[in-house]
Amino acid sequence: MLMPPWFNDVFQQLVKRHSDQRLHHGLLLSGQSGIGKTLLAHTMAKTLLCKSVSNNGFCNACQSCQLFDAQTHPDFSELSSDKQLGVDKIREGIARLNATSQLSGNKVLIIPRADMMTESAANALLKTLEEPTDNTYLILVTDRMNRLLPTIISRCEKHILTRPHHEVAQAWLADQGFTDVTVALLEAYAGAPLRVKAALEENSDSISYPQYQEGLEMLLSGTNDAVTLATDWQASATTIVDWLQQYAHRSFVQHNSPAFYKLYKTCIDAHQALQNPGVNKIMILSSVLAEVKRPDSSI
Ligand SMILES: [Zn+2]
Repeated sequence: MLMPPWFNDVFQQLVKRHSDQRLHHGLLLSGQSGIGKTLLAHTMAKTLLCKSVSNNGFCNACQSCQLFDAQTHPDFSELSSDKQLGVDKIREGIARLNATSQLSGNKVLIIPRADMMTESAANALLKTLEEPTDNTYLILVTDRMNRLLPTIISRCEKHILTRPHHEVAQAWLADQGFTDVTVALLEAYAGAPLRVKAALEENSDSISYPQYQEGLEMLLSGTNDAVTLATDWQASATTIVDWLQQYAHRSFVQHNSPAFYKLYKTCIDAHQALQNPGVNKIMILSSVLAEVKRPDSSI
């Protein structure tokens, strides 16, 4: 997937510094999840490896660009990590970074979830950040910068990335084939367009956001009850709880009412409980729905 347009400015700045040979060898891209940080990291990596970079970034035609697109570039590696990222993996990545470049150019290592590094992994990485070999670049990506060692953070060039404006996000989602994404739906995913996209792809067969809004309205007006709704929605229980969690968060910020803080906490607990196989989804979801109130009725 291409880098989303809302990162154009930061990308242009990075390319400019690369052209001026002033780019830091350790980049840290931080920001909330689902805004496309890793896509920016990939675009930057492709640019750093490209043999014919222009002011707009990579050329998309040279051998290096072709190898990158085919995911077979010998001087590029990425340390994927669903769970913990241990010291062995980091050492492996560093070894590749320190090896001779196959294409006589730069070498790039991306760590997409840098906050998953164990402490010993982070310490192993620290040395590379302190004493980088020539023509090597490390790009760390995180949505939880507070979990990184301060020594790692201080040795990187930090970029705090923000989510796009809603209109920009809506236009991008429309380009991806998701028209009619409302502001309410965006806000249900904290304004993170890639999270909305993932949810819409995943939930194409189950509940839509307008259906959820309609059901919630019926609950609040008393024309439907929590147990009936929970029964109807049990297949999408996790999605509903996520949406309600965002609703609670927004309402708490706007109205500063303890009831919404309580609902927010209930949603977090429910989300956790729903991860266990065999749980009674109707019971969990109905207990969350029973706590939902209108902002004005709870102040
Ligand atoms: Zn190129």
